[in-house]
Amino acid sequence: MAVKLPDGTQKTLPEGSTVYDLAAAIGPRLAQAALAGKLDGRLVDVSAVLSDGVGVEIITDRSTEALDILRHSTAHVMAEAVKELFPLAKFGIGPSIEDGFYYDMEIGRSFTPEDLEAIEERMRQIVAEDKTFKRTELDKLEAWDAFEEQPFKRELISELPEGEVISTYTQGFFTDLCRGPHVPSTARLGAFKLTKIAGAYWRGNSDNPMLQRIYGTVWFTQKDLDAYLNRIEQAEKRDHRKLGKELDLFSFHEEAGAGLPLYHPKGARVLRLLQEWLRGVLYERGYVEAITPHIYKADVWKISGHYENYRENMYFFEVDEGDGKTSEYGIKPMNCPGHLMIYGDSLKSYRDLPFRLFEFGTVYRHELSGVVHGLMRARSFTQDDAHIFCTPEQVHDEVIGMLELVDYVVGVFGFEYSAEVSTRPEKSIGDQEFWDISTDALIVALKERGVPFEINEGDGAFYGPKIDIKLKDAIGRTWQTATIQVDFNLPQRFGLTYRTADNTEAQPYMLHRTILGSMERFFGILIEHYAGAFPVWLAPVQAAVIPISDRHIDQCEAVAKRLNAAGVRAEVVSDSEPMRVKIAKAQQSKVPYMLVVGDKEIETDTVGVRDRTEGDIGAMGVSEFAEKVLAQKP
Ligand SMILES: [Zn+2]
Ligand SMILES: [Zn+2]
Repeated sequence: MAVKLPDGTQKTLPEGSTVYDLAAAIGPRLAQAALAGKLDGRLVDVSAVLSDGVGVEIITDRSTEALDILRHSTAHVMAEAVKELFPLAKFGIGPSIEDGFYYDMEIGRSFTPEDLEAIEERMRQIVAEDKTFKRTELDKLEAWDAFEEQPFKRELISELPEGEVISTYTQGFFTDLCRGPHVPSTARLGAFKLTKIAGAYWRGNSDNPMLQRIYGTVWFTQKDLDAYLNRIEQAEKRDHRKLGKELDLFSFHEEAGAGLPLYHPKGARVLRLLQEWLRGVLYERGYVEAITPHIYKADVWKISGHYENYRENMYFFEVDEGDGKTSEYGIKPMNCPGHLMIYGDSLKSYRDLPFRLFEFGTVYRHELSGVVHGLMRARSFTQDDAHIFCTPEQVHDEVIGMLELVDYVVGVFGFEYSAEVSTRPEKSIGDQEFWDISTDALIVALKERGVPFEINEGDGAFYGPKIDIKLKDAIGRTWQTATIQVDFNLPQRFGLTYRTADNTEAQPYMLHRTILGSMERFFGILIEHYAGAFPVWLAPVQAAVIPISDRHIDQCEAVAKRLNAAGVRAEVVSDSEPMRVKIAKAQQSKVPYMLVVGDKEIETDTVGVRDRTEGDIGAMGVSEFAEKVLAQKP
């Protein structure tokens, strides 16, 4: 028989040959590297038998699917180790996940950190024993019998369709219900570590028993594992919730409600600095600013379609309007309706377009409490929102302008970025001409600006295509921030028009766009990106003025006053601790400059300047230092 290889060539093999045999026929190195196979796009074990004419790809540790197979295989080995240490363990499911795997189990008590060590140790022995993963195919009844002591597995089996071939995998004395594929043997597992214990309801349902979940991570090499663990450690150190508390930026309060951040003076300062800077950038680019209410009567939400389509994410309430009448009001989850009403308040001509209206608009969305996460996913947040009303011909230039703005804004923070374009979904409204013009404008603009992008076919909103911008932070994580979205639907719903050059009436296109996205979320990203050490222009306190001893406090106050008057954010550190401790504290609070003041500095009217990262940079006059700080702009 003959099989097809990915390069288009054919390979002739004896009947009954497996994926492994094919790899060996190509070369001994490939046979050694083979982890699994892909038959006409379907992943299989290396032991899978080939059929005549099938297309075969050999999966090695270089293939994109390989890590997934490795992770899933490691979950089996972890389950085997648990079964040996806890013979009565009942097993749930053990899938691979991003960066690793987990397995849900019931052992009659909670796992302890010592258990994890013992399990990991036993896993190493199983790897050393080099046990083969053996596939067996059963019918439903056989499978039912095979998992007599495993109620959760039986529940899964009972739900499989009649007549389906059920597969199990056995390594050593441990058998698991699984579709596969797996690596050929336990010796192929690579570098792993068990990372975390958590409770998890069986099938995620709180009516079901609580199982114990063990998380682990596994990589092909120790180097990859070390790099991953380092990344996790970095991410934990940078966690914006932890730094937000340490740096006194914001807090959350149970009695106030989940996902509702309260900004302390330092956090509020950073947010305001961001807004003031961005406002200037937008004014320079021909934007005008609006301020709109936080609540509207339900009538507006009915016109906009939110009442029908977005209701479960909104907060509605009744208001007494007098005369025994009440009206229903909704808190805004988006700023669009206000901007549409502003556009529609007067007649517009083509000469008024493009009309670029922006607002730092605080919106409220009812996110489920399970997904609320610090500033990254809150229930109240402020968008740097804008709506551009324009003619179809102007869409392209407007998108170019937005991409230029994205490039400038994210460049200020040193982020790299890429884009995703989401196109027309199956269920959508609007004629094809609108979709063609809009989608084209987005793609052409990205190409012209040289922004790397991927296309998410059919992933657009029902009313228009969009661009999502993804930032890459200092430790290589990606964050979705800016969005540019074309919309023909809302202008229609609000009856917006403009007079064209030949004096007819036409409906404008509308672009929704945010650059930072949610200001709060962007703030959270910045905290983690900078590990709390904001650049000088954005630091809530730019200089900590530190007296060498208590008798220098008055001079420190005078220095701080002069700096603040010059526009530098300075604070005196007046607690009576040794100077060494005061410097260490200022260092910890990530203040960019520490200014030391003692007898010598009083005499010469200078300050001893310490840069947070460079250390001592010598004495300077107060105004000289102020100039140095003020020169540092975005
Ligand atoms: Zn499996
Ligand atoms: Zn909008």
